[in-house]
Amino acid sequence: MTKLNPVNPPTEFMGALGALVLVPVLPLITVVFYFLVNEFYLVEGVDLDLSKLKQLVAQTNFHDFFFNSVVWKYYLAWFFLLGVLDLVLPGKIMDGTVLRDGSTLSYKINGQSITAFMFTILTARYYQTEGSMPELQFIYANFHRLIGTTIVFSFILSTFLWVYSYIPLLHKNKVGTNERILAINGNSPNHLYNWFIGRELNPRIGPWDLKLYCETRPGMLLWFLINLSCLHHVYLQTGLLTDSLVLVNALQLFYIFDGITNEEGLLTMMDIATDGFGFMLVFGDLCWVPFTYSLQCRYLSLNPITLGSHTTVLILVLQILGFYIFRSANKQKSDFKSGKLQNLKSIKTKRGTNLLCDGWWGKSQHINYFGDWIIAWSWCLPTLFNTPLTYFYVIYFGVLLVHRQVRDEHKCREKYGDDWVTYTKQVPYKIIPYVY
Ligand code: NDP
Repeated sequence: MTKLNPVNPPTEFMGALGALVLVPVLPLITVVFYFLVNEFYLVEGVDLDLSKLKQLVAQTNFHDFFFNSVVWKYYLAWFFLLGVLDLVLPGKIMDGTVLRDGSTLSYKINGQSITAFMFTILTARYYQTEGSMPELQFIYANFHRLIGTTIVFSFILSTFLWVYSYIPLLHKNKVGTNERILAINGNSPNHLYNWFIGRELNPRIGPWDLKLYCETRPGMLLWFLINLSCLHHVYLQTGLLTDSLVLVNALQLFYIFDGITNEEGLLTMMDIATDGFGFMLVFGDLCWVPFTYSLQCRYLSLNPITLGSHTTVLILVLQILGFYIFRSANKQKSDFKSGKLQNLKSIKTKRGTNLLCDGWWGKSQHINYFGDWIIAWSWCLPTLFNTPLTYFYVIYFGVLLVHRQVRDEHKCREKYGDDWVTYTKQVPYKIIPYVY
């Protein structure tokens, strides 16, 4: 144990036991989703046709599922070429939060360049291939192999990161040692837990920040391409597009690229500022996000649904409402923290900073989570009510947000002490005003 990197007990996600359960269960969920939504079997209602499912599983070549050499080749090219692009495309340089040794890391924020590059390439390929876009067809046809590949890749990358965290820095940190800065929660006596939760806070290979890269590039952009591949597949097959599929594509496209083009907001979020980079985030970023968040599009590509203009507009309005709350609440907090909006009511804390308890932040402690959850509903509703499976996202995301709120409350209670108690008396609701 050193002053810079104290050892802490494994507490997040129910400690080592939670890690032991989640490591196999999360990948299994993504595989099960594939078996429930594919060309040979499509879940309906809550009843499962077990004999058909058993037959499908028995027919599956699992070696090919996880280790198809062509898919691996393309996935590795995707991961590393995108990494090179991330390093060379222009962007603004911004500082992250102050680390425990007193230093700050610089980040290149080039989400706008990547977005412009991505759309230019896609448009060029569309015209070059006269709309056939073999890369999108490849993604659609190899959906299951991509799941298998990203699962195995997540295990490999997490193990690399864990080993890497033990290699001393080549240069001295700000306290004059060669220690890497470890995550407060990732330096426990339990190796499995550290591997799972992430030992090092901000692993970098030279200028390449692996955590920010994985959070915003290979998984998010693959999610977008999977959605697009579903739309493209249906159009190639039928020459038509359903309003439901176009709607989910449009809603998620907007969300994905809003996140990528405003990625500087991530620098102060707990994922970057306090969480270690281990299996939990690696798998979440590279496999969970692209393959479970695209479930609605995949489902709608196999079960076309026509919504009609009234339902389409209602769902669109829902996303706009959610987005408005999510965006304006986040902006209000960030403006307030940067010294603007001083007219709003706030509590002066003993740490010298202020806790806003007015505007959006007077309605609940995480009103931005509420907006995000409304958006989640707008992605699920276009699948109508044929099966609860397509509502998985809204349930899972609700659990994630409550879990996040509990973690954040714990952090703020420790950080602000009595001031946090005063704040929660003024703003009693945690996420949904008057409900929770
Ligand atoms: P918040 O934006 O709510 O930030 C919480 C932090 O803000 C606290 O730790 C505290 O930090 C500060 N804070 C909290 N309340 C106040 C207040 N009243 N006044 C001033 N400062 C306050 O949470 P996140 O960082 O978790 O989330 C950011 C966004 O990302 C949200 O909109 C969320 O919905 C979204 N998100 C999306 C996910 C996805 O998968 N789509 C996953 C996770 C999040 P301090 O005082 O230390 O500055």
